[in-house]
Amino acid sequence: MPSATCVSCQGQRPAALVRPKTSEPYCKVCFFEAFEREIHETIVKEQLFKPGETIAVAASGGKDSTVLAHVLKLLNERHSYGLKLVLLSIDEGITGYRDDSLETVKRNQQQYDLPLIILTYKELYGWSMDEIVKAVGRKNNCTFCGVFRRQALDRGAMKLSVNKIATGHNADDIAETILMNILRGDIARLKRCTSIITGDESDENEGSVIPRCKPLKYAYEKEIVLYAFYKRLDYFSTECLYSPNAYRGNIRTYIKDLERLRPSSIIDIIHSGEQVLVKQTAKMPVQR
Ligand code: SF4
Repeated sequence: MPSATCVSCQGQRPAALVRPKTSEPYCKVCFFEAFEREIHETIVKEQLFKPGETIAVAASGGKDSTVLAHVLKLLNERHSYGLKLVLLSIDEGITGYRDDSLETVKRNQQQYDLPLIILTYKELYGWSMDEIVKAVGRKNNCTFCGVFRRQALDRGAMKLSVNKIATGHNADDIAETILMNILRGDIARLKRCTSIITGDESDENEGSVIPRCKPLKYAYEKEIVLYAFYKRLDYFSTECLYSPNAYRGNIRTYIKDLERLRPSSIIDIIHSGEQVLVKQTAKMPVQR
């Protein structure tokens, strides 16, 4: 713990942590205030929501979506956004992972007093992920799963008549995806991965029916963890059994190394990605 005083309240309180984003000492009160204010500023600046909209928070029980649900509920009340919030969870059917994380979502539903709907792959497609992996082996599991989840979220969102789905993608996730798309030469995806809203009328490449938005786009993963920890939020932290994606894992490690050398690296990568002009002729790969 740092011995300095908080830079934000200028010594009124002792620092309790060093903000990963700025390397400055903060007390807990000022850190909470700064973290929530920055998300509010993103929501307002990017016009993520309109009064009267119903927003589904894609809730997995993990730290990102738990912090997202907590902060959206808080900001909605604090700033009178006029939103109706609901939790939308997808059960891929992964024993020892999703069954446990969904128990966390059910507790979150009680804690935040929000409606919850859970859709299962088994009901929607006739297959759980465990059954798919049993049939096809440990190969490209995330590719199947990602396509299924996108469609499942759309179906759930339509069932709930929501206007948008808010996802818990954080700054680290987006920086990883930007680098991954550059290194793979997947330039068409570069445009989409930096957009804070996808699937709306301005996004001709997106295959989703309901627009998605990322209110945590500029929130560092380390700050999300600190926020969840100091707020004592109830979240689930085990990795999916089928997750090992060596390529993304290497890029994640690389970004963490960069962050250690220069904390602004994550935001710098996002800003660089946002500045890249993608030609209109760049096409997304056709989904088969
Ligand atoms: Fe599905 Fe892959 Fe995520 Fe596991 S890590 S839930 S298999 S997308």
